Amino acid sequence: MVRSHIVTCVVALAAAGPALAGKAHEHGTARLDIAVAAGRVSIDFETPLDNLLGFEREPRTDAERQRADAAVAQLRAADRMFRIDPVAGCTLAKVELVSAVLKLGGAVAVPGRGDHADLEGRFDFDCKNGARAGFVEVGLFEAFPGLSRLEVQAVTPKGQMKVTLRRPASRVALVR
Ligand SMILES: [Zn+2]
Repeated sequence: MVRSHIVTCVVALAAAGPALAGKAHEHGTARLDIAVAAGRVSIDFETPLDNLLGFEREPRTDAERQRADAAVAQLRAADRMFRIDPVAGCTLAKVELVSAVLKLGGAVAVPGRGDHADLEGRFDFDCKNGARAGFVEVGLFEAFPGLSRLEVQAVTPKGQMKVTLRRPASRVALVR
């Protein structure tokens, strides 16, 4: 592994919050991993901060701070951001956000990343029957104009799938 220093940081961050894997950082694109089980749907979101804020450093002005606060609030309201097929009977249980420059989740800045920065989110939903979920309606494009593509992976009890969602599409169909 050539980029061993990055791997070390990923391990350290994974201990502090959502797991990080495959550190692709491409503005306009983000990753969404959806794991469906009978009693739970978990969603991992990983995005360049630029997609959410239009910048990738600590907010410096009131306007930038407001933009960052608004983005965080939108992500924390995850039951509006990720609307899971109602037949699954899911309710939001837990939200974890990790971003070093926004001082979220105890993350530390990763050296050698230049001027780039990311945000990772983990969203857990408790479900009455998660395996019946046929889709997740994703509000990220609506909320964040800087985001244009989502690389989605989903694992359900019936199998797994990979799909690219492009603005303005918002629905991820799940294998069930
Ligand atoms: Zn960047």
